[in-house]
Amino acid sequence: MSPVRPLHNFSAGPAILPAPVLERASAAVHELKSKGHSDGASGAGLSILEISHRGRDYTEINEQAIDLCHEVLGIPRTHQVMFLQGGASLQFAMVPMNLNRPNRVSCYVDTGVWAGKAIKESRVLGETRVLASAQETGFDHIPEIGEIPSDASYLHLTTNNTIYGTEYPEIPRVRDDIPLVVDASSHIGSRPLDFSRVALGYAGAQKNLGPSGVTLVFADKDLLKDTAATVSSVPHYLRYTTHAKTPGVYNTPNTFGVLVLKLVLEWLRDEGGIEAAATRNAEKSSKLYTLLDSSSLFDAHALPGHRSHMNIPWTLRAPTDAKPDAKPDALTVRFLSEAQAAGFSGLKGHRSVGGCRASIYNALPIASVNALVEFMREFERKA
Ligand SMILES: *Cc1c(COP(=O)(O)O)cnc(C)c1O
Repeated sequence: MSPVRPLHNFSAGPAILPAPVLERASAAVHELKSKGHSDGASGAGLSILEISHRGRDYTEINEQAIDLCHEVLGIPRTHQVMFLQGGASLQFAMVPMNLNRPNRVSCYVDTGVWAGKAIKESRVLGETRVLASAQETGFDHIPEIGEIPSDASYLHLTTNNTIYGTEYPEIPRVRDDIPLVVDASSHIGSRPLDFSRVALGYAGAQKNLGPSGVTLVFADKDLLKDTAATVSSVPHYLRYTTHAKTPGVYNTPNTFGVLVLKLVLEWLRDEGGIEAAATRNAEKSSKLYTLLDSSSLFDAHALPGHRSHMNIPWTLRAPTDAKPDAKPDALTVRFLSEAQAAGFSGLKGHRSVGGCRASIYNALPIASVNALVEFMREFERKA
């Protein structure tokens, strides 16, 4: 007997995907529905896993996926869309490799674990300056950026902080002469974001766009032209210009992952697009924050005004005589195990914050949030 599927999937990533997407993806694993090209280049009758990335069928999938990134996610046509591998983590290194300039400094804002990893790679590759950090208060807010130095190569921001649950309310407008780079892994597609302000953006697909193993990267074509002159010491594979020339197919891509990303974007479009998703996500997050703010047991980690609409971490208020300890307290352990038994999956907080976290990406239905809120109310009543 197969195990019972949890009813409510709050995983931070890889994360919940829309049920119709899972159905279409599994059908494509059995047999790709193809238009049946007559020139022998068709994959009709074969699995998506079995066809060439240079054949007509995959070429079509790749082109449609790129087009949907523009149409549905609002990536301007001035920007080149690419599907790379190596996760968002490889972008931590590729960004400084490609965008560093001689006698200039790479600038970052430290908003938590992922920003910290990006900073760490930048330090390997060149002079790096952290313009602002929220570390002192446990990354519970988005710090003011302050003045951006005129000798900056670029400014890098993590626009939604998956672990601490903070989010930039909008993509900030920075100096026109300094490229803005964003890691938007965990909120791309969740609401309209003004990517015309962004010179280069990236997102691991496994949060809101599809499966792991695909990283969406988009870069202003003018910026790419500028980098062409300065990347001669970067291996070809790690240059954006290499991938921009043959978007998505410089080498064998994660063909299945790109297909699923395409199916997710079609689903998002058919559900009313990004504006409708934003409305649903605002309603979902506000239900959870309302509960957390009115509770005397649960504490939201992020401060009002800085809160993510996608990732919502909280802690359980320890009894006043409890000693601070890295290990989760007994009440948190009990909460998580009762939640698991009641069909809520993926609520354990990241080890660096502890407590709990609900990730409420696009594919998570509001019914799951309602059920969680009810479960938490009941838990508090009995605690
Ligand atoms: C998950 C995540 C990453 C890491 O992604 P990988 O694909 O595992 O490398 C980086 N940044 C943010 C904001 C994330 O949420």
